[in-house]
Amino acid sequence: AGHNTLSQILFDQGFGARRECDGLVLNGLVQVAGAVVDDPDAVFPEDGLVLDVDGQSWVSHVRAIVLLHKPAGYECSLKPGAWPGVHNLLPVPLRRRGLQPVGRLDQDTTGLLLMTDDGPLLHKLTSPKHHVPKVYEVTCKHPVTQAMCDKLLKGVVLDDDPLPVAAHAAERVLPEGTAPDADTFHLRLTLLQGKYHQVKRMVAAVGNRVEGLHRSQIGRLTLPDDLAPGQWRWLDDVALVLP
Ligand code: URA
Repeated sequence: AGHNTLSQILFDQGFGARRECDGLVLNGLVQVAGAVVDDPDAVFPEDGLVLDVDGQSWVSHVRAIVLLHKPAGYECSLKPGAWPGVHNLLPVPLRRRGLQPVGRLDQDTTGLLLMTDDGPLLHKLTSPKHHVPKVYEVTCKHPVTQAMCDKLLKGVVLDDDPLPVAAHAAERVLPEGTAPDADTFHLRLTLLQGKYHQVKRMVAAVGNRVEGLHRSQIGRLTLPDDLAPGQWRWLDDVALVLP
């Protein structure tokens, strides 16, 4: 990664217009690695710089890739309608940088969502060629039978494509301590594609109905237990989500 002036780094990170970034520095409001730097033209490495910007702790990332625990009631759309957009869950500098969701989750779906401002990476991760497995925890209205799982694995035909679409994995998840033949409403479904409403439509195609949907994993990245709904963090190891 390259070097840049402090003011340019702040601008690139999304801390405001060039003149606002100059002003923050000139007014002594910016610390680099714990020490105030008041020269906007001071040169630093642009990536991984430990900053404090007017009280906000920040580590510079030239390319922004974040994971978000999406709560229900937020839309992934870039021009949200009835519901607030997931961008509202990000801090202002990231909102300025215009991160885009990597694939979309429905308004009522919760769980792991990636967002990035890196166009080529976004393209790579959403391209059907790349086949990143995504794991969904599905709460169904009716008991999940083995026959349903078998059909999902064999492939079901959805209304927008004559070619059947198959799950990569489909398993009944039993509540702890229950017999293997006990009723369960929990289906764990792994998909390689990301068609519109794909989980809901596939589950409907086998005669059940989705009542709750949560994405728990993308590639080798699982939603961290300590990331509460609405919280985000940087994804530093992008290899976790690349096949
Ligand atoms: N499939 C769906 O039906 N909805 C989602 O949000 C994601 C996958």
